[in-house]
Formats: sequence, structure tokens, C-alpha cells
Amino acid sequence: MVAEADGSGSGESFDVDVVVVGAGFSGLYLLHRLRQLGFSTLVLDAAGDVGGTWYWNRYPGARCDIPTTDYSYSFDPQLERDWTWSEKYATQPEILSYLRFVADRYDLRRDIVFSTRVESAAWDESATRWRIRTGNGRELSCRFYVMASGCLSLPKAPEIDGHDRFRGETYHTSRWPHEGVDFTGKRVAVIGTGSSGIQSIPLIAAQATQLTVFQRTANFSIPARNGPPSAERLAALESDRDAYREAARRSRGGVPGDVTEVAGAYATDEVRRARFEAAWEAGELLEILGVFNDLMLSPTANKVIAEMLREKIRSIVADPDTAEALCPKDHPFGSKRPCLDTNYFQTYNLPHVRLVDLRKQPIVTITESGIVTTDESFEFDAIVYATGFDAMTGPVVAVDIRGRDGVSLREKWADGPSTYLGLTTAGFPNFFTITGPGSPSVLSNMAVSIEQHVDWVADCLDQLRARDFETIEPTPLAEAGWNQHVDDGASITLYPTANSWYMGANVPGKPRTFLPYVAGVDVYRAACEEVVDRDYLGFSLAGKGVSQCNDGVIRRLQVDVAMVLRVMEELQLPPMELMTVEDARAFMQMTEAVRPPGPVVGEVVDGVLPGAAEDLPYRLYRPATPGPHPMVAYFHGGGWVLGSLESDDPLCRDLCVRSDAVIVSVNYRHAPEARFPAAADDAFAAVRWIARHAKELGGIPGQLVVAGWSAGANVAAVACQLARDAGGPDILGQVLLTPVVDARMDRPSYVENAEGFVLTAPLMRWFWDHYADPADRDDPKASPLVGNFSNLPPALIVTAEFDPLRDEGVALAEALAAAGVPVHHLAARGHVHTSLTMVDVVLSGADLRAQMGAVMQSFFRATVKA
Ligand SMILES: Cc1cc2nc3c(=O)[nH]c(=O)nc-3n(C[C@H](O)[C@H](O)[C@H](O)COP(=O)(O)OP(=O)(O)OC[C@H]3O[C@@H](n4cnc5c(N)ncnc54)[C@H](O)[C@@H]3O)c2cc1C
Repeated sequence: MVAEADGSGSGESFDVDVVVVGAGFSGLYLLHRLRQLGFSTLVLDAAGDVGGTWYWNRYPGARCDIPTTDYSYSFDPQLERDWTWSEKYATQPEILSYLRFVADRYDLRRDIVFSTRVESAAWDESATRWRIRTGNGRELSCRFYVMASGCLSLPKAPEIDGHDRFRGETYHTSRWPHEGVDFTGKRVAVIGTGSSGIQSIPLIAAQATQLTVFQRTANFSIPARNGPPSAERLAALESDRDAYREAARRSRGGVPGDVTEVAGAYATDEVRRARFEAAWEAGELLEILGVFNDLMLSPTANKVIAEMLREKIRSIVADPDTAEALCPKDHPFGSKRPCLDTNYFQTYNLPHVRLVDLRKQPIVTITESGIVTTDESFEFDAIVYATGFDAMTGPVVAVDIRGRDGVSLREKWADGPSTYLGLTTAGFPNFFTITGPGSPSVLSNMAVSIEQHVDWVADCLDQLRARDFETIEPTPLAEAGWNQHVDDGASITLYPTANSWYMGANVPGKPRTFLPYVAGVDVYRAACEEVVDRDYLGFSLAGKGVSQCNDGVIRRLQVDVAMVLRVMEELQLPPMELMTVEDARAFMQMTEAVRPPGPVVGEVVDGVLPGAAEDLPYRLYRPATPGPHPMVAYFHGGGWVLGSLESDDPLCRDLCVRSDAVIVSVNYRHAPEARFPAAADDAFAAVRWIARHAKELGGIPGQLVVAGWSAGANVAAVACQLARDAGGPDILGQVLLTPVVDARMDRPSYVENAEGFVLTAPLMRWFWDHYADPADRDDPKASPLVGNFSNLPPALIVTAEFDPLRDEGVALAEALAAAGVPVHHLAARGHVHTSLTMVDVVLSGADLRAQMGAVMQSFFRATVKA
């Protein structure tokens, strides 16, 4: 039990199982859960009462921006029945009352010490305990230490010269006086137009005689349309509470709702407008952020919405200069947290309200009586700082936390946070963060994310105790893997393009890394659950005489690749190798009809060229740049059985743009109608014809690369060997994307990646069976890996980590290099066989295709120089 939790600072030291920092949403629920499990727990908070965010942020207009029906605890059905929210977006006093109600209901205050700031925490290896020191001199020891210290709890100090000189009243929105402030008759300045500024400005304007708003960055905001809680939402909740809450837990953002299939980049103007207006009317952040499925992925889609939002601002604000200054133009919509407002833009139509654009006239200094900008001098009675927070990492590293060997967390995170699951960090045993960096946290409904983290931590401590483990700590491998995954996820989105607090950009000197995990609450929860199901994958557990380390990386697929695989799994498609050839071809065509088209090129021309036995259709893609261009003879994938000019159309467009070359995609004869060596012979015939007709095709004679994907890469590699043996044509390079090069399907990648990554080992066997008799398969025209590699053109070989063909591609790269052929080998980490061809679907493939384009250009340049 906890001894005397009175926070008196008597210097007395006492021991508990768990110390929790923070008595907000997180700390309260954690205390409740840990108590239920019988752990002695002490919660410390610098605040004078429970509430966290809702204790501190008492500025006028402070409200939640997730509907309160959803922004509340779900762990106790009776609690939900006993509390009724009065508004769609409750005010700060109401949310604080709720958290007080929760604290009273579960008698939580008796284990909480208020007005106590934790200053340091050090891991004592010999005692396997944390030693905690507070600002008022109390020392505590605990086995487990949890920072439930909030993502937005450390206000950012104003970095304006002279800010401490001002003699009038000064306020920070997140440290608002409890008794409130009356601005009647006062000249007021508000510095900052983030969420707090946008919420408070209309209410301050209603009192002040004069209000001047100093804006550095214009922010997007939509009307909250506050009122009573949504009847529809309440009905859904009341009809099946458990299903509703479960839907929230399994949703992207932590609020139940449908995920749209509309991609803004390709939707018609009518659809775009209709979806935007509906979201604008709904007044919900997750609605407008979910207006298109590619809003945070596609600059095109994002620009559409950003412009519609700017139109709204221009239609509301009467003065055109003010309207223009209020229009955000320096970041994509959503890349900074958008705001919900009540009459924010309308406020600038009031005669006593003025906007000062700090981009045009920066603040020079604050004086005793006001603010001086480069152009003007202002006098004020009060200055309100709405300058935000040192988000997510700030409150954690504000405490001097030292793990094994005295290593400081602040130093470990000097270049950006490093966590496993946003919950733990290597070198700091028995230390947890609630909604830490690397978890969905501020991108989600935090109530849902908090409950999930608290449950994970509580269950973990329970399991450790049951199995006699005393410590838990992530491994460096697991942590590095998670960091990579978090970075990979962010890097395909528009988030990192903004100077936002998500990126740490609002705090001078803070490293720029995207802090939250973008893939969603649902995906994240599944990863956390899987870690536990795989017996704490990536964690070292130890106790007296017992230890376990089940090392590994929880997520190795790229985020978008995993998403594609999930969708395919949900469709429960029959395995292709069990289909007839006709059905498989029909299925391929169906999928082609619903995918994004790929980039626009200068010209697309269809034609026919003579193959080895009959005419073959080809499609030529010409860059928009002035010609003539180098040429690429391209062969599509599809296991010699499937595929067509259509199947690889987006990829050909993409390669055309990136390589600035004419791509001639050739539809060679397919098996089983035309078996080995028809495809290979056709490929060689096509290469010869393209080389001979370069000029008529708008190409540069002598500037030819041969390329292909999968089975197309097989025939491309074969064509290069045949051209060498025939003494021509000259080929400057071979570009082989996840090639099939060896019929022996026995390399480790065939076992590791046999199932589950689109191209399966059984499907590959099906392709081979349709294409070539076993007796023919070790012919170099079928398996170019058994050929002769001397004097072959330089090669670019791309292998995908989760592809049965990976190891044969690697073997080809090694064999070519050993024979003196220059080889670029791109190993596509986290990708599957089809990833790079899924243009505008698997965005994480774009960077690799850019590298392919650059290498192709280098093939052409090398000859030009020679
Ligand atoms: C104005 C505002 C509106 C928001 N609206 C929403 C919303 O609508 N939806 C949403 O999902 N999220 C919202 N958030 C985010 C909000 O922070 C979380 O939803 C949630 O309240 C966080 O709860 P918490 O317990 O994790 O952290 P907090 O509520 O921040 O509590 C952390 C506590 O830790 C204490 N603490 C920190 N460091 C120390 C230390 N060293 N020693 C002692 N005590 C310490 C702090 O004093 C604080 O009381 C909003 C945030 C703000 C600022």
C-alpha cells in the first residue's frame, strides 16, 4: 500500500509498485486499472487537481475538437450511462467536471499527490527500481515508472524579445487564471493563431475595446457547428454501446465512421465539391480530414480542399487584404492540426479587431506598454500568448530521466525520439510513456488511444508479475525497426512538408522528425496486440532466475504495402493458381479498371511490330520534353501467362516520365497458347526491331535500354544475352524489376515468402508449368541465371524483400558483378513483388522508381560521354 501520499515534501522516502506522472485522462485511468490489479500506485501532478489538459487550459472558448460523445472513457459502461454531455463539443469546465466526477467515482484522489513536479527519475540497477525526485524534495522508489505526462502539457515559452518587460497583464492560454479574466474596456493583443488562439479570439473580441491579433502562420479552420450532441451518434451509441466503442477502437482516427474510397486526385469536380461541402457542414475534423482517402497523400487532392477552404475564408472576411492574410498557403491542409471554430473568421469583420501579419511586419520587441513591429508601434493593456506547446517529447525530456548506466533520455533523444511502439525505449527498463512519440496520439481521438495504452501497460505489468519477471525493456533491434516503420509511414504523407508542431518545428533547436504514428489507431492497436501474442516480441524480460528475449521487428512491410495486402485479404480472393487461365486474365482486367492511371506523358501511340512468329501489339510512351529521346524496350509482367499492354500501363508512364525516354511496351505471345521459347524469341525480335526503327519512333539510334518486370524481366534479360550472342543490337543497360531468372524454386526466399505477399510460391510454379516443360527450364533462354554473363550490358536489378523471387534476383546481381558487369542493385525494403508497379497506390515505391529513372538516365549519359 502507499504510505501517506500527502505531497508535504517531508523528505521521507517511500516505495510503491508504480509511480505515474500526470493526473489527466491517462493518469486517472491508469491509477484505476493498476489499483484493480492490486499494484500500489502513486500519481504525481504539478497541477492543483485532476484534469491535466482540462485543468490548465481555461482560456475563453476552450473546448474539445472531437465530439464529446467519443472523447470520453469507455472502460465502464455504467460510467457512460451516468454522465450526459450537454454539447457536441463540450467546454473546458464541463470536461474538467467530468474528470473530477471520474476521480470521485473511483476514489482516485487518495493516491494522487498534487502540486508536485517530478524533476528526475533514475534507474537503480542493483535494486531494479526507479528512484524518483520531486521539486519539493520528496524521494520515491518504484518498480515501474510511467510518464502519463501528456502530449500538450508543456507550454512553449514565447521567444520574443522583451516579453518579460511588458507591464500590463500577460496571459498564456494554457496557464489561464482560475478566476477568469475580464477584458472589458481593454486593448488586447493575442499572439498566435493555432487552435487556442482560434478558439479564444472571438470571445476576447466580444469583451475587448480593441483586439489586435498577431499571426505568424495562417491556419485552416472549419466551423464547429456546436450544439447539442449529435442525435445520430447518440442513437448509435445507445443502440449498441459495445459495438460502437469497438468500432472506435478499430477505426483509423478513434471515432466510428466509414472510410471513403473516393480519391481526390481522380474524382470529378462535382464529387470533390459535394464531399467538401458535406464535410464543411458536418463541422467535424475527422470528416474533413477523411473527405478523400488520399487527402494526406496526394498533393493534387490536398490542393483541391485547401483551395476550397481558402474560398470559404474569402467569402466570410470582408476586407480582401485581411482575408488573403488569413488564407493558409504555406502548408498542405491537415499537415498542421486544423482547427474547429465558432465565428473565428467573422470576428475580423468587427471594426475593433485587426490582424497583423507577422510575415509582413515581424515583431521587433515587446516594450513596457506594447508591441513594436518593423512597421508600427502598438499600445496594449493585456497580451495573450497563444503560442502552443513543446509537444509530445517536451514534457518527457523536461524530467531528467536516466536509464541503465546513467544514460540520459534527453541525450538519447537529442536527434529525435526513439521508441518501441511509442510505449517504451531501450536502455530504460520498466519505463513507459502513455501516447508517446511513435504512437497515433495527437493524430487520433486521444481518449481511445489513451485507453489502449493504459490497458496495454496494465496488462503487461500483470503478466510480468504472473510470470515472475521483474523487468521489461525493448531490444535495440525492435526499437530501430519500429522507428523505421514510423518514419516510413510518415514519409509517404504530406505531413513532413509542414513546419508543424507534429514535426517539432515550433520549438527552436528541436530536431525535425515526425512525432506521431500515421497509419491509424486500428493498425497500431493490431501491432501492439501482435507483440503480446508473439510473447512480447522485441522485449527482454528478466526476473530472478528467469529471462526471455524474443527479439524481432514487429512491422517490416511498408505501411501502404501492408494496407494493400489487408484489403486483398479482406476480399478473400481465391488463389490465382486455382483459377483457369481465362478467369485469371479476366480477374487481372477487372483490377486494372479500378486503379489510378499513372502520370500523364507527352504522347501514347499504339502500333504493331513483327515478333518472332507473328505481329505483336506495342504501346509507345513519349515524354513531354522535346525529342528525340533515348529508347527503352519494355516487357510486362504476368508469369508469361497474364499481362498485357494495359497491365503495366501506369508503370510505363511513370518510367517514361522518370527516365525521360521513349518506352515501347511490347505484348509478346503468352503461354500456355505459346509456350517456351515464344516469349523470349518475341522479346529479342522486338528489341531488334525497336533498335532498327529508333529514328521513326522518335528515338535516338544507338540509345537503347531493355527493361521488364517479373516474367517480362526474364525475357528482357534473355534478350540481352541473345543480342550479345548475335552481335547486336547494342544495348546500353538492362533494367530488371523483380525478375524471374531461375526455374529452381528452392532459394530461402521461396520458403520465407511462399505465401501472403501477392506472388506466392504455388503461383510461380503454376506460371512455370504453363510456360516451360521441366526439361527446358535450365536452358538460359528460360533461366538466364544459368547463362553466360560476359560482355552483358550494365544492369539495374531491383529485388523486393517479401518476394519469393528475391534471392534469385540477388543471385543474378552477384553473378553479373562477378563477371565484371556493372550492377546497380536496389533492394526494396518492405516491398512485395508487385509493389513498385502499383503507381499511385503504393506510394512508398515512388522513391525507388525515381532511383530507377535516375539509373536509366545514367545508362544513356554514359554512352553519350563515351
Ligand atoms: C486545448 C486543448 C484541446 C484539446 N482537445 C482535444 C480533443 O478534442 N480531442 C483529443 O483527442 N485531444 C484533445 N487534446 C489533447 C489532450 O491533451 C488529450 O486529449 C488528453 O487530455 C491528454 O491527457 P493526458 O492525461 O495524457 O495528458 P494531460 O491531460 O496533458 O495531463 C498530463 C498531466 O501531467 C502533468 N505533468 C507533466 N509533467 C509533469 C511533471 N514533470 N511532474 C508532475 N506533473 C507533470 C501535467 O501537469 C498534466 O496535468 C486537447 C489539448 C488541448 C491543449
